Parts: sequence; C-alpha cells; structure tokens
Amino acid sequence: MRRKLVAGNWKMYTTPEKAAALAKGIAEYVGQATDPQVIVFPPFTSLSSALIAVKGTAVAVGAQNMHWEDEGAFTGEVSGKMLLTLGCSYVILGHSERRQLFFETDMLVNQKLKKALSQNLSPIVCVGETLDQRDAGETMNVVQSQLLGSLDGVPADELRRTVIAYEPVWAIGTGRTASPHQAEQVHGYIRTVLRERYGAIVDDVLILYGGSVKPDNARELFGQPNIDGGLVGGASLTAESFNKIIAAARQ
Ligand code: PEP
Repeated sequence: MRRKLVAGNWKMYTTPEKAAALAKGIAEYVGQATDPQVIVFPPFTSLSSALIAVKGTAVAVGAQNMHWEDEGAFTGEVSGKMLLTLGCSYVILGHSERRQLFFETDMLVNQKLKKALSQNLSPIVCVGETLDQRDAGETMNVVQSQLLGSLDGVPADELRRTVIAYEPVWAIGTGRTASPHQAEQVHGYIRTVLRERYGAIVDDVLILYGGSVKPDNARELFGQPNIDGGLVGGASLTAESFNKIIAAARQ
C-alpha cells in the first residue's frame, strides 16, 4: 500500500521568523509520525529557519524550484546542489505558476528533474490543465503530454523516487476544487499513462492532488483510490488548517 504524503507549498509567503513558527506548529503536531509523510516548501530565504524548526521530527523540508546546473553565471538562481547542502530533501518542479508566469516548459522541467534525481533530491513534478483546456475536452491530452515531456528519459528506478502532483490550474488558489470524481479520473489516467511506459512499478508512485485542498474536502479527496495525498497552497499557511489536512490523510 502506498503511504500518503501531504506537502505544503508556502509560495512567496513567510519571513524566516514566520516560517520558523509555522514549521514548529506543524512539527509539534507531526512529531515522529510518518503516516502521512509531511513536507513543507518555504521560499528560499526561509528554508534554513524551517529546517532548524523541524529538526528531530519526521517533517521534511523542500524547495519550490531549482536550477538545472550545479553552479554558474545564473543570476538569481539556486541549484539543487545548494539545496541539498542546506538539508533539503525535496523540490517542486513545474508548478503551474512557474509554467505560466515564468514560461517553464516541459523540456526545462525535464532538465531540472534529471538533475534533481542525479543528486538524490526527491522531486514533485506538477501537471495540470487550464480551464479553457478542460472546457475544450483536452484535459487528458494536456496532462499526458506534460507528463511524458517532463519525464522524458527518466528510467523506471528513478520514477520510483518521483512524486507526481495533478494540479488543475483552474483550482489553484481559486477556492474551486476538482470534485473527488473529477480528480480521481485524471489520477487514474496518469497511472495508466505511466504504466504503459514503466510497467508495474507505477503502483508504487505517489500521485498527489493540488487545487484548493482544505480541511473540509481533504478526507474525501484522499479517500480516492489513486489520490495519494495533497499538495496544499493556501491552507498550508497556518498550522491549524494544515494539521487538519494531515489528520485527514491518516489511514
Ligand atoms: C499550490 O500552490 O500548489 C496549490 C494547490 O495552491 P492552493 O491549495 O492554494 O490552491
């Protein structure tokens, strides 16, 4: 059985002090419990304070993005190697805000993904359709093409360490959630697409749902057969609501 995972994407919120307090509130609740696995993703400037706050607990810390080279003349960028050195164990790649606002393509996500995997950083790769694409009946095509493009050349043993997040763009930060049925349909499809390429190991791959996950809808979403937890934005910004979502993922 796949272990559930609950990830909090803090986006461009929290000072180092606020991040420490938020991480502490989550770490005190989680303690040593590993079901679900809990990861927080503060902005770069708050990674250190969050890492200190969760030390000795089962909560892991990751970054929201990384560069595909180890170092170089890339003003404003942070490499996976730097994140690893700091103590991060996860990285989010291809979030829709990065795809839409910073023009990240599947090819770029793929470059970053290969680098992250080569450095033993565990990636969460995000895919998802816009509202126009959904209305045009293109959801499955869009998701398939993002998935296969982002994973191009990634071998099966590395897929096992890769988490996929299905995040319909129309549900992110909008308060509109995909219904459990809508989400499960796409999650099941993602597993089918991956199975065609990778075979049975796909049963071990975690597929998270993201898009306005809240304490009051989390349990039903997480109860779907192919939804292995959530990537949570807004509701991860207070320990009170995030801890309730963690509770909803307990099996
Ligand atoms: C996200 O940031 O990945 C996200 C899903 O945000 P929200 O939960 O606020 O919709």
